[in-house]
Amino acid sequence: MSDTINTNNPYNGEHIKTYKLDSKVVLNKKLELANATFKSWKFLEISERAKLLQKLADELLADKDSLSKLITLEMGKPITESKAEIEKCAFLIQFYAHNADQFLADAIIETDAHESYISYDPLGCILAVMPWNYPFWQVFRFAIPTLIAGNVALLKHASNVTGCAIAIEKLFNKSGFPEGCFQTLLADHDTIEEIIGNDIVKAVTLTGSEKAGKSIAQTAGKNLKKTVLELGGNNACIILKDADLDKHLDTIVKARMQNSGQSCIAAKRFLVEEEIYDEFLEQFTKKVKALNYDDPLKEDTNMSCLARPDLADILEEQVSKSVEKGAKVHYGNTRDDAYYQPTILTNVTEDMPVFKEETFGPVAPIIKVKNLDEAIAMASNSRFGLGTMIFTKDYKKASKKVLAIEDGAYFINEMVKSDPRLPFGGTKASGYGRELSKEGILEFVNKKTIFINK
Ligand code: NAP
Repeated sequence: MSDTINTNNPYNGEHIKTYKLDSKVVLNKKLELANATFKSWKFLEISERAKLLQKLADELLADKDSLSKLITLEMGKPITESKAEIEKCAFLIQFYAHNADQFLADAIIETDAHESYISYDPLGCILAVMPWNYPFWQVFRFAIPTLIAGNVALLKHASNVTGCAIAIEKLFNKSGFPEGCFQTLLADHDTIEEIIGNDIVKAVTLTGSEKAGKSIAQTAGKNLKKTVLELGGNNACIILKDADLDKHLDTIVKARMQNSGQSCIAAKRFLVEEEIYDEFLEQFTKKVKALNYDDPLKEDTNMSCLARPDLADILEEQVSKSVEKGAKVHYGNTRDDAYYQPTILTNVTEDMPVFKEETFGPVAPIIKVKNLDEAIAMASNSRFGLGTMIFTKDYKKASKKVLAIEDGAYFINEMVKSDPRLPFGGTKASGYGRELSKEGILEFVNKKTIFINK
């Protein structure tokens, strides 16, 4: 087994850097340091931790250009999207810096005691296994609430974004966080599974594939450690006949094509009411054709390659198997190394891979439905449960369907998106637990009961 990690630019295939994996000795030192740091970090006032967060947001924004470039070089997303990702991280940091004390305040509960309440105490060292698609956002989304709650963090990032992982650790240190508050581990899968068993690690969170989620959760379960899992998605995007396409079409296209289609909450199945189907297909296709594929470092590029060539292999197979079953390629479907052309499919049925499986790239199956009820039934016919979006002028009618939607989110006249102020997470094979908002910060705390009599 190799003891190095190579990062490559997926746009031109150029090698970026080789990193050496941490030795067992180094990893043990990192674990011990995390443990030692936790012992003092947990006693720091939240207001003091918040000051460090503010500094972190400032450092992040000051380095926005170089960090965005690093993201784009390592995983290929258009540079404007990398910059937006950095800005969103700064917004998230500020949100928790301002609200954590309120989220973590003791919750008084009236009982027969003189005083009784819940104290939200940190757990200790939390391990995060993170993906490459939003290499800063996914990490900050976990780390900020986790750290301000008084925990310390260890990151095992996706190998192809190792430069980002190291840059994030440096940012925390540069902002004045005590050494050991946030550390990056360079380790392979087997070593990470061993680390989960180490007593210093108290809980694990993973954002990634179902396969990785099952493996990590199994190891954590064997060691009786809590997990939060944010896995794949197969979100339906329902377009009713009264949808305002003039107003929402750009959002609908972005819902699928953002990040070159590599988003867990992307719209992956378009369910369109039959009366508007032809018009929608025409307008959607026009917008998709107008996307500008070019070097992701150019400011006007809005469609890029996938993050690795093997991701395009998977997509190609999903599309070709669907075509074998009768799907028609309405537009696109050419492939060149890590580039997969935005592709629109019609004649898609529920037994096809592009309907049943998650397509992690710019593939849009457009499916005709008779009405809202059929659309909801089809949307729910999925192993995944991250989110559903619906576009209609009759938002009141759509909002009556909340209970019928089985997912972690339901967005009306908006694409499913994450927002620090709102909880984020899924049901079914999309995982469990929540990130962001007050719900997210409470995932890695000990909700301790305090009972005081005179
Ligand atoms: P992946 O293979 O699951 O990788 C994600 C992370 O898990 C990487 O850091 C990977 O490390 C690590 N990993 C995988 N198996 C592991 C194991 N047995 N032990 C320790 N670490 C392990 O995911 P991917 O296919 O690259 O990414 C796309 C998937 O992530 C999609 O399914 C997508 O929907 C999902 N995702 C979900 C969300 C969400 O918020 N719900 C967000 C983004 C992505 P290496 O890189 O070293 O293999």
